[in-house]
Amino acid sequence: MLKLMTPGPTRVRENVRLARSMETTNPDLDLTFYDFYKDTCDLISQILSTKNPSYILSGEGILGLEAACASLTEPGDRVLVLDNGVFGRGFADFVRIYGGEPVLYTTDYEEEIDPEALAGYLEQDHAFKYATVVHCDTPSGRRNPIQEICPLLKQYGILTVVDAVASMFGEKIEADAWKLDILCGGSQKALSAPIGLTFVTVSEDASRAMHERNTPIASFYANLLNFETYYEDKWFPYTMPVSDIYGLYFALKNVIEDPGIYQRHQENADYVRTAIRNAGYQIYGNSGYANTVTAVVVPEGMTAEEILTGVAEESGIMLAGSFDTFAGKLIRIGHMGEQSNALDVKLTVEALLKVLSKSK
Ligand SMILES: *Cc1c(COP(=O)(O)O)cnc(C)c1O
Repeated sequence: MLKLMTPGPTRVRENVRLARSMETTNPDLDLTFYDFYKDTCDLISQILSTKNPSYILSGEGILGLEAACASLTEPGDRVLVLDNGVFGRGFADFVRIYGGEPVLYTTDYEEEIDPEALAGYLEQDHAFKYATVVHCDTPSGRRNPIQEICPLLKQYGILTVVDAVASMFGEKIEADAWKLDILCGGSQKALSAPIGLTFVTVSEDASRAMHERNTPIASFYANLLNFETYYEDKWFPYTMPVSDIYGLYFALKNVIEDPGIYQRHQENADYVRTAIRNAGYQIYGNSGYANTVTAVVVPEGMTAEEILTGVAEESGIMLAGSFDTFAGKLIRIGHMGEQSNALDVKLTVEALLKVLSKSK
């Protein structure tokens, strides 16, 4: 099998894989499972520095984003969609599906969103129920300064939905200090757990907005209110995937027992970008480089496909291309979670440079 160095799904550590083989229970009837689920949710909130509750939903990261929009959006609501990447823009679809009116604030995809420019925009127009922002827009490797953007939006009473699926556990996040309302993460990125789970933290303000709706939430599966009283009521809206959550618990423990995790992500990201630039190749973008993924511009005279096949065949490493706006234009290295270690990033950069050098 090829060595995974893709920006999700990522490699899964052995203790997480083994946890998924533990004996299972009936999660609806076994009351001890409610405690286990809550303990796992509390670990998520602890790592994200928030007093807000977290909920684990059975479904990939996309479900978390959709659940946030489904639960907040009422027909006619204006929603500010901060767009400097593929996932950023994509939020407009969720807003529309639930009857909201997305207002796109589109900025240069090569730059992080500038909080000062956004402040200028908000002075003119701030009649929004909530705003969406992506912490790390994976297809381009862009990172946005949510620590400045979200408090700014909050000054105007605008709730924030933050997609941190590709950054969470690879970049430090302080959800309360940064005033994030709904924060979305996923199992298969920097957490290095298997594919299949999403989790969201929900602030009091976001919960209140859901309770104060005039119309019911137009979904059952994506209705976050269905999770609010699971512990008191000993009731889940649907049967929880026990084995996935066992794995998740151990993956979260791995993060907690690894105090150097954010520093390591920073150092490995710096190493990758410096080595590739020093060899004469271009990293996509001019500001806001994510510590979990790097997007390398496909040099002239080569195709993305050739590069990916070359790296796989010569070195046994799986890298990713990109998609949508960036299809065929970028090669992506996922230096997140288990894949953010000095040896793997060194081998990966060497393998990539060996293939790229044939274009010269
Ligand atoms: C991976 C990812 C998601 C979730 O996508 P899935 O296909 O459901 O895993 C959402 N947002 C970002 C920025 C991502 O990188």
